[in-house]
Amino acid sequence: MNSQKSGLYVHIPFCEKKCNYCDFYSIEKYELSKNFQQTYLNALIQDLKEKKEKYFINTELSSIFFGGGTPSIFDPDFYFKFLYEIKNIFTNTNFNNIEISMEANPESLCERKINEYKRAGINRLNIGIQSRKKEFLNYLGRKSTIDEVDLLKALHQSEFENYGIDLIYSLPMQNWNDIKQDIDWAIDNNVKHISLYSLTIEKKTKLEKEIFLKKKKKPSEKRSFIYQKIITEYLKKNSYNHYEVSNFAKNKFECEHNLNYWRYRPYIGLGASAHSFNGKVRIINTTNIKNYIKQNKYKLVSSQLNPDLFIGIFRITEFQPLSKFKKIMKFHEFLLFQKKIIEFANKNWINIKKTGFNITENGLLQSDTMLIEMSNILSREDEKLFA
Ligand code: SF4
Repeated sequence: MNSQKSGLYVHIPFCEKKCNYCDFYSIEKYELSKNFQQTYLNALIQDLKEKKEKYFINTELSSIFFGGGTPSIFDPDFYFKFLYEIKNIFTNTNFNNIEISMEANPESLCERKINEYKRAGINRLNIGIQSRKKEFLNYLGRKSTIDEVDLLKALHQSEFENYGIDLIYSLPMQNWNDIKQDIDWAIDNNVKHISLYSLTIEKKTKLEKEIFLKKKKKPSEKRSFIYQKIITEYLKKNSYNHYEVSNFAKNKFECEHNLNYWRYRPYIGLGASAHSFNGKVRIINTTNIKNYIKQNKYKLVSSQLNPDLFIGIFRITEFQPLSKFKKIMKFHEFLLFQKKIIEFANKNWINIKKTGFNITENGLLQSDTMLIEMSNILSREDEKLFA
């Protein structure tokens, strides 16, 4: 029997300090002793064994991603041990051929850690720089102790060939020149992957409160839209492939693990608050760290049409064959889907071809609108069916 390929995501939900704009599940100032790291590791291994046995029986791994939170807050030793266990559990996977990524924050990296993460088996690092200007980092409530020169020297000297950075744009006092300086710095240093996120004000964050109390200015949506266009043109001119709304990569350096989600393929999620999807059911882990460690608590959600499907198709530029949707959707859903795709094509958001379609550059600027419209029309239809 052929095995099914799946990504593996491991959530490390700890941060030294919560950033003002962040609404991810992460806990600040947690006690992160060696003992605690071992306890969390044991819980992750237990979780992996159980998920593999029950929901991912005949599965081979296609990528591994340590995300957070701040995974670089943990010692390299944690990753040595964990990757060793993963290799013992997935004996059918060729680990020399798969992407193993880790998200890192500059303030928790140093030359020693970079080299040891590499020796542990991690082959792709993604660093949350966000901005190189102190003023902007202060606005975001981020630590600003980064010494980029040392960081890049260490990266160049290590054997990491594949590393990327995250940047944030559209801050109220930031102009194109500020954004361009950060992008140029990445280009000059041969960074292979650049994620550029427009700052959005999420509910219940510290930044939302500060803006409400008029302590900080609000970012402008109109400017964000304009910057997105300029950034895209600029990076394309500099040989970066715009393969997803916010992601740009040099040829063959696209993030395989994230593409796996956007292509609607299975993934195993480990750690507090992580989600998994095996093609049929979704599994949602508890967000309570103590419950996760003690009992590996999770719930199952059986959903015919996973919302991830639309998140993916309206974000990536690659070709989408219609046969894929025919297989996943019920007949009435597929007809509604097709009708909406034609509507989007008439607005030049989508390019229709004989056997499928792909999103246009114009459409990438409208991906949220398409996602909402498509989800609404299909959920309205569901309501009618079950009324
Ligand atoms: S480091 Fe990342 S995950 Fe942690 S609080 Fe800041 S934005 Fe959120």
